[in-house]
Amino acid sequence: MLNNKTAVVTGAAKGIGYGIALKLAKNSANVVLADFDESTNQTTAKQIEKATGVKCLAVKCDVSKKEDVDNLFKTTAENFEKIDILVNNAGIFPYKSFLEMSEEDWDKVIDVNLKSVFICSQAAVKIMRERGKIITISSIASLIGFENLTHYCASKGGINGWTKSLALELAPQKINVNVVAPGAIKTPGVEASLDEEAQKQFVNTIPWKRMGLPEDIANTVAFLASSEADYITGQVIVVDGGWTLK
Ligand code: NAP
Repeated sequence: MLNNKTAVVTGAAKGIGYGIALKLAKNSANVVLADFDESTNQTTAKQIEKATGVKCLAVKCDVSKKEDVDNLFKTTAENFEKIDILVNNAGIFPYKSFLEMSEEDWDKVIDVNLKSVFICSQAAVKIMRERGKIITISSIASLIGFENLTHYCASKGGINGWTKSLALELAPQKINVNVVAPGAIKTPGVEASLDEEAQKQFVNTIPWKRMGLPEDIANTVAFLASSEADYITGQVIVVDGGWTLK
């Protein structure tokens, strides 16, 4: 259980982030939900607070903007005094072929998916100081290739390497730094970017013969956020129904 712990979850208004925020709240952590979809985020925070009885706070934040991120952690410190758990979840996956990809397309994905992880984690560690958990959501796209997602695969691969380095740097403070790498998960983001036929093809590729659910990722994050995972650091935990086994 995560009693008296404070967790910040980015991209928490919907999808995997929502699943993670709900699970951590069910495990008794107070949760700060950061998202730039302000109205959905406010509704989500109220729903979670009502369902679990913990304190939830919605903060509008574009995770790729340092001033927004500074405000997120300032607001967190003002309301909860400290932070114990950071879940870097916000991310985008706009499909674009390599030759059609503009410099702006590339920069946007790298800024939202990778630079954000650096600025959020640095701001969090300053108020975490020692004993804490940083969990970042990368993807199986950090391990295998996907057409039309070169920028996305680069950003997610970057997260895995960054995590191993930071885990070494923060070991003296006993801050665990880990990655959860999901396979295909049913979320609003995926429903908007893949038609039914493409989703069926995904299911055929997955040995478990179903897409994952946000809960599948949330359960793994909740374990890594708990004291039961104190001796795990710098690892990439794949949660993909077996997709990457062959
Ligand atoms: P989603 O359904 O699109 O939800 C993501 C949430 O993050 C949305 O509320 C979105 O707002 C918000 N967001 C986007 N950009 C943001 C920014 N710059 N600052 C703050 N919030 C932002 O996505 P998801 O499928 O749950 O994915 C969550 C994470 O899991 C991502 O990092 C993704 O790469 C990773 N992942 C997903 C899958 C999958 O199959 N779903 C697989 C592997 C990895 P808007 O809706 O307004 O954009």
